Amino acid sequence: MTATIEPDVAASGAPQPTFDSFNPATGDVVGTHPIDGRAEVDAAVAAAREASAWWQELGFDGRKEYLLQWRSVLTRRLNQLADQVHREGGKPHGDAVLEAGLAIDHIAWAAKHAPKVLGRQKVSSGLLMSNQAASVEYHPLGVVGVIGPWNYPVFTPMGSLAYALAAGNTVVFKPSEYTPGVGRFLVDTFTEVVHGRPVLNLVTGLGETGNHLCTADVDKIAFTGSSATGKKVMAACAENLTPVVIEAGGKDSLIVDEDADLRAAAEAALWCGMSNAGQTCIGTERVYVHERVFDPFMSELLKQAEGLRPGYDDGGVYGPATMPKQLDVIRSHIEDAIAKGGTAVLGGADAVGDRYVQPTILTHVPEDSLAVTEETFGPTLVVNPVKDMDEAVELTNATKYGLAGAVFGKKRAMDVASRIRSGMTSVNSVIAFAAVPGLPFGGVGDSGFGRIHGPDGLREFTYPKAITRQKMKPIMMLQSLARDEKTTNRFAQLLTVLHGGASTLPKKP
Ligand code: NAD
Repeated sequence: MTATIEPDVAASGAPQPTFDSFNPATGDVVGTHPIDGRAEVDAAVAAAREASAWWQELGFDGRKEYLLQWRSVLTRRLNQLADQVHREGGKPHGDAVLEAGLAIDHIAWAAKHAPKVLGRQKVSSGLLMSNQAASVEYHPLGVVGVIGPWNYPVFTPMGSLAYALAAGNTVVFKPSEYTPGVGRFLVDTFTEVVHGRPVLNLVTGLGETGNHLCTADVDKIAFTGSSATGKKVMAACAENLTPVVIEAGGKDSLIVDEDADLRAAAEAALWCGMSNAGQTCIGTERVYVHERVFDPFMSELLKQAEGLRPGYDDGGVYGPATMPKQLDVIRSHIEDAIAKGGTAVLGGADAVGDRYVQPTILTHVPEDSLAVTEETFGPTLVVNPVKDMDEAVELTNATKYGLAGAVFGKKRAMDVASRIRSGMTSVNSVIAFAAVPGLPFGGVGDSGFGRIHGPDGLREFTYPKAITRQKMKPIMMLQSLARDEKTTNRFAQLLTVLHGGASTLPKKP
């Protein structure tokens, strides 16, 4: 990323600085984009604010039509979009098609389900308030700022963009500086669908532009990126008490029980650990295998890993590291694991090149190694044996992160899955939950908080509005300064009938 001053003029009147995005496989410049400053960010938020009334007045059905139209446009231009992702992020074209396809499915789900999830719903008013009709409805917040990462530049921000829009908000989107062209593609196609209205707006730039968005007049920030930046985002948002959703990093494990299908588990671990060059927030970074099947699992894993290689050509199963500075992190994690007593059974520190990292599998890595405790974000797997599923759960949970994970097994798999302290787990597959639009997506601990996707993801971009309507006069008039003692006593009697029953707790032994 280099910042160069170009003669264009910014909203502030000063020359507009720009930055380039690069193809990480070739180093070629893919595009040049403005570095938006305070004035440009404020202007984008003001435009979104103005478009808000039109977008809200459309109602759920009107917005649905536009969102479904956008979904169709993206589907028709899938190859173009995937090509942009391929060139700026370096991932294979086929992986980019898959990513965009899943994002498109989320647009359709959010558009179609917003009325039912967010529209007025009756709520039981309870015996004490039975003279009231109670309901709740979910109102849009106004303008939502979305800050995205580069690793899944379509799928990841779409979890906020589509859901915030379907809920009735307008949006200002700041894509990663590594994939600004993908962000531009998404905003341009949507803007075309709404005939130029600034409902979904783009600002581009580096971290400072993101910071301007956090401190601008927005009603919520949806951030996806590293935990370290998430903390800065939260601190900046605290200034105006702007609420935030934080979708941050992870250190997910895949657990293999003794009754697991070892071939399927190995295939899943390899795909989830290596695809997208390991740059997946919900990717597998650790594998805990029941000691009784550790050796056959390792043989299967190494057999399947044979011949796998990265590349930008058709034979490459994954691409280069999108962010060159991550290469040092990956190398340092591998070196630290080996220095502490771990073994590289495939690849190793030498596997880290100038752009690509060859598949690397480490075993018997001490649990205090960086490769176990920190997010590596490279095509590496740490595979350690465990004596039983209790130990697998304990080690899995001994992390500051808590994003997702997977369990392979039969008898105990569901039980193990629910004991993992994370937002999402898939049993006998990997990352399946991300492709089920009705499920919430998000983590706990250093992986963040708040949810995108599903009904929770729609509600995340709204505030609940409770309404009661008096249907008839109350039997007892409690809300009156004229309430007499008799009425209070009748209320106390009713309360005793309703809640004064004997405890069902067991007697003290
Ligand atoms: P990053 O934190 O470096 O950047 C993310 C975004 O934040 C970028 O747009 C960046 O410009 C912006 N930014 C940087 N500094 C900022 C600041 N001070 N204020 C506001 N915005 C700022 O992350 P990245 O390298 O782009 O993405 C990789 C990380 O994202 C990994 O840790 C990965 O696990 C995580 N991730 C999480 C999810 C999830 O859903 N939980 C999904 C994808 C990626």
